[in-house]
Amino acid sequence: MDIGEPLDRFVYVAEGEIEVVDPYTGWLSGLAATDAKGFAITGAGAGQADDYATTAPGIFAVGDVRAGSVKRVASAVGEGSVVVSRIWQYLKDTRAKPG
Ligand SMILES: Cc1cc2nc3c(=O)[nH]c(=O)nc-3n(C[C@H](O)[C@H](O)[C@H](O)COP(=O)(O)OP(=O)(O)OC[C@H]3O[C@@H](n4cnc5c(N)ncnc54)[C@H](O)[C@@H]3O)c2cc1C
Repeated sequence: MDIGEPLDRFVYVAEGEIEVVDPYTGWLSGLAATDAKGFAITGAGAGQADDYATTAPGIFAVGDVRAGSVKRVASAVGEGSVVVSRIWQYLKDTRAKPG
């Protein structure tokens, strides 16, 4: 297959660092632990085996709001896709058994 000339005429410009400084997590107060900047703590830091589990059972955090995440679109999407199965498993494990 001929893929033509290499794409050497395009430039990706990135200037400076993008920092999420103010995560909107006030509503988590009293529910799940956050770090000093307000990012949701997950995984080992939250005492959880699951990388995306917060300190609160059934509350998971992915993407920019998660402490230690890389703050990039691709990772936010990837973490979101992974955590869906964790949520299903949580619901399956905790679903009320018929009496
Ligand atoms: C200027 C800028 C340039 C960037 N450029 C790049 C780039 O080139 N490449 C790259 O990979 N990444 C880039 N990023 C980072 C990228 O945008 C983020 O990593 C990504 O959007 C994180 O996705 P997210 O879903 O975790 O969070 P977000 O995209 O922030 O989505 C969170 C959503 O939740 C909503 N929300 C928050 N609280 C509530 C609530 N209580 N109820 C309902 N909705 C709520 C918000 O309004 C928002 O829509 C850039 C970021 C900025 C700011």
